[in-house]
Amino acid sequence: MSTLRFHALKEVFKHQPIHIEEKLRRSEIFGANVFSESTMRQFLTKEAYENVMDAISNGSKIDRTVADHISTGMKEWAISKGATHYTHWFQPLTGATAEKHDAFFETIGNGLAIEKFGGGQLVQQEPDASSFPNGGIRNTFEARGYTAWDPTSPAFVLGTTLCIPTIFVAYTGEALDYKTPLLRALQAVDTAAVAVCKYFDKNVKKVNASLGWEQEYFLIDSGLAMSRPDIVLTGRTMLGHSPAKGQQLDDHYFGTIPNRAMAYMRDLETECMLLGIPVKTRHNEVAPNQFELAPIFEEANLAVDHNSLLMDVMDKVAERHNFKVLFHEKPFAGVNGSGKHNNWSLSTNTGVNLLSPGKTPMSNLQFLTFFINTIKAVYDNEDLLRAAIASASNDHRLGANEAPPAIISVFIGEQLTKVLDELENVTDGKLSPQEKTDLKLNVVGKIPDVLLDNTDRNRTSPFAFTGNKFEFRAVGSTANCANPMTVLNSIVAKQLMDFKAEVDKLISKKDMKKDDAIFNILREYIKKSKHILFEGNGYGEAWEKEAKKRGLSNHKTTPEALKAKISKKALQLFEDLGVMNTIESEARYEIEMEEYVLRIQIEGRVIGDIARNHVVPTAVRYQNILIKNVKGLKEIYGDTFKTYAKEQLNLIEDISHHIESINSNVTKMTEERKKANALENLDDKAMAYCNKVKVLFDDIRYHCDKLELLVDDELWPLTKYRELLFTY
Ligand code: ADP
Ligand code: MG
Repeated sequence: MSTLRFHALKEVFKHQPIHIEEKLRRSEIFGANVFSESTMRQFLTKEAYENVMDAISNGSKIDRTVADHISTGMKEWAISKGATHYTHWFQPLTGATAEKHDAFFETIGNGLAIEKFGGGQLVQQEPDASSFPNGGIRNTFEARGYTAWDPTSPAFVLGTTLCIPTIFVAYTGEALDYKTPLLRALQAVDTAAVAVCKYFDKNVKKVNASLGWEQEYFLIDSGLAMSRPDIVLTGRTMLGHSPAKGQQLDDHYFGTIPNRAMAYMRDLETECMLLGIPVKTRHNEVAPNQFELAPIFEEANLAVDHNSLLMDVMDKVAERHNFKVLFHEKPFAGVNGSGKHNNWSLSTNTGVNLLSPGKTPMSNLQFLTFFINTIKAVYDNEDLLRAAIASASNDHRLGANEAPPAIISVFIGEQLTKVLDELENVTDGKLSPQEKTDLKLNVVGKIPDVLLDNTDRNRTSPFAFTGNKFEFRAVGSTANCANPMTVLNSIVAKQLMDFKAEVDKLISKKDMKKDDAIFNILREYIKKSKHILFEGNGYGEAWEKEAKKRGLSNHKTTPEALKAKISKKALQLFEDLGVMNTIESEARYEIEMEEYVLRIQIEGRVIGDIARNHVVPTAVRYQNILIKNVKGLKEIYGDTFKTYAKEQLNLIEDISHHIESINSNVTKMTEERKKANALENLDDKAMAYCNKVKVLFDDIRYHCDKLELLVDDELWPLTKYRELLFTY
C-alpha cells in the first residue's frame, strides 16, 4: 500500500466513535432553539403574537410598529439562547443556504453599547445580490436584491446566530431563490384545492401541501475522503475499480448501524431536535456506508427549509465526527446511488388528508377527485416534472438500473387500478338513481380505508401512490426539494382549477347534479390520462419501448430535460398561476443549464488531472519495475529468458496500451472542452458538454480502473473503493 494511503487509513483507526452524553429526553429538547408558537406567546406582546399568527395562517401583512415589537421579543429570546448575531437565512439558486451575520451589538457613543435588533432589520435586508446566480435578471435590471422575512417558517438559533428564514428577490421583484416560487405555488394550490373542497365540505378554508422527505447519504471517513481529489472537488469518485465485495450480499441494508456512524446519527438527531426538525427514522441503506434519515412530514414550506437546514447541520456535525457526508446522487460506481423521496399530500384545515380514502363513500369521492386530478396533472406535465429533478448528478441515477427511470409514470397499485377501470365505465351524462347507488357501492365504496398495506410497493416507479400520499421518488439526494415541490403543487393547482371550471359548466349548462358532473369529468380524466399509469418494472427495457409508444418523454440527460421548463406551455402555466413570470422561468433555465456546464467542466478537468498526474505516472513506475525484472531475467537466462518473462512482457504491453488509451482520450476530451467553451449559445454548449465531453469520462475511467487492477497495490496512490466503503 502506498504511504499516502497507509497514512490515511492509519488515521481512520484513531477516529473513535464520539459519544455525546444525552441528558434530556428528545421530547424535552424538541424545538428548544426555535422561536415557536409557545415561545412567541412568552416573548411577544399579545398584539404582536396575534399579528404573527394571522400572518402565518392568512398571509396578512405585518405592521411596521408591530414588527418592532416582534423583533425586540425575538432578540430577547435569541440572546437568552446565547445568540450574539442575527442573519437572514435564505436559499439562493446555488443549491447551498446563504447567510450573512450581523451582530446585535451596537455602539451608542460615550463608549457605551447595546444589543439592538429593530423591526426593519427583521423584515427586510439588502444583501449584495451580484454574487448569486440570477440568470441575467441582474444584467437587465438592478444589481441589488433584498431578503424579506417569511413568518410562516419560524426563526431559530443555530450556534450563536439567530437565523430568520427569508425569501430572496431582485430589487424589481423577480425571485432569485427557491423559496419565493414555492410560496407562490403553495398559495395557488391552496386556493384551487379549497375551491374544489367546497363541493364536499363548505367548512374548508385552507389546504396545506405536506412534504415528508427521505434523505439518503454516504458517510465516509474525512481523512479518506480528503485523500481523493475527485471527492473533494466533485463530491463523487470519478475513478475506482469495484471492490471484490460490494453490495451483492445485501448485508448492509437495515443491518446494524456501525458504532461510529451511530454516534454521528445520535449527535445529528439531537441537533435536529433542538432545531425542531422532527427526524424519526434512521437506517442503513443498500450500499455499504449508505444511510437514510427521514422526519415526520410537515407543511411543505417548512419541510423544505428543514431539509436545507438539515443538510447544513449534517456537514457540521460530520466535522466533529471526522466524517465527510456525500450527498451526491452517485458517489460510487457499481453500488447504489442516493435519492430523496418526496412524499406529498394535501390536507385541509379541518384535518382531512385529501389523498386518504377515508371511511365513507362520500369522502371517497373527494379522495377520488384529488387522486385522479393529481394523476391527470402528472400526465399533462410529465416532462416538466422530469425537468424539476434534472441535474448533472441526478443524471447518473435516473435511467440507471437501480433508480427510477427518466420516464415519469404513476404507480397506483392493483386495487385502485380496478376502481379506476370501473369508474371509466360510468355512463355519459346524468346518472339514474340505480346507477348512482351502484357506483357508490361498487366503485367509491370499494376503496378500503387503509390502503397502506395493500399498495404493492413498486420500488421502480418514479411517482407512486402509497396509501395516503404520493411519493415522488426520482428527486435527487442533493436537490433542494423546493424545485420539485414548486412544480408539483403548481401543476396540481392548475389541474384543480380546470376541474372546477369543467364541473361547474356541467352543473350550470347541462343542469347536472354535482355528483353526476364530478363523475362525468373524472371518467373523462381517467380515459385521457391512462397512459401515465404503469404498474410493471420501470427498470426494464420493455418499459422504455412501451413508454415511447405511449408518447411519454424519456429525457436521459439534463440539457434535454430542462427544455421543458421554457416550453410555451410551461411558461404560460407558471405565468397564469403567478408562480413565476417568463423572466423568472427563463432565468432559472439559464442558471440550471449554466450549472450543468460548469459541473461537467470541473469533472472533466478533475478526471483529466487524476488520470495524467496520478494514474499514468504510477503505471509508468510499475512498468519500469517490470522492465528491470525482465532485464534481470535476460541477464540470468540469456536467450531463453522469454520462457520466464512471458507474463511480465504481456503486462508491460498491457500497461502501455492502457496508458496510450488514457492519454489519447484525455487529449480528445480537452479538445472537446475547448470547442464547447468556444460555443456562444448556452444550449449548444450544454449539449456539447453532455454529448462530446462527458461521454469520454467512461473511456478514461475504464482504462484507469484496469490499471488499478494491474499495478502493484504498494504504488497505487488513490484510496481504493474497498477502503472508502468498508473502513470506519
Ligand atoms: P418508506 O417510504 O420509507 O417505506 P413511509 O411510507 O413510512 O416510509 O413514510 C415515508 C415518509 O412519508 C415519511 O417521511 C413520512 O413522514 C411521510 N408521510 C407520511 N404521510 C404523509 C403525508 N400525508 N404527506 C406527506 N408525507 C407523508
Ligand atoms: Mg420512501
